[in-house]
Amino acid sequence: MDGSPGRVAATDRGRVRAYPCAHLAGTDVGPVTRVFGYALHHIERDPETEPAVSANCLHEGCEWKSAPSTAVQPVDEACMRHTGLHPAHTRFARQFADVAVVARVGSP
Ligand SMILES: [Zn+2]
Repeated sequence: MDGSPGRVAATDRGRVRAYPCAHLAGTDVGPVTRVFGYALHHIERDPETEPAVSANCLHEGCEWKSAPSTAVQPVDEACMRHTGLHPAHTRFARQFADVAVVARVGSP
């Protein structure tokens, strides 16, 4: 299995699971190809869409939120700037969402 950041691992039975927070380590989730019911399937981010990344501070009483982005790095940098200004604010909930497309390999 590939445990590198930003990648998705799949079992050989077709169940796909993401490594914890792996999708937050990179700006894209790598494409995966596996066999389902004797047919080869491939999943990847819809190239016509952009991922949505954001974060919010979890410090009690703080309502800070990052500006939304299509990449993880600007959001992470915004979190670090926030902690720089408020040293006790060290925990953030990060959100990542994208649209994925599944296609049978070999189908038109
Ligand atoms: Zn905060």
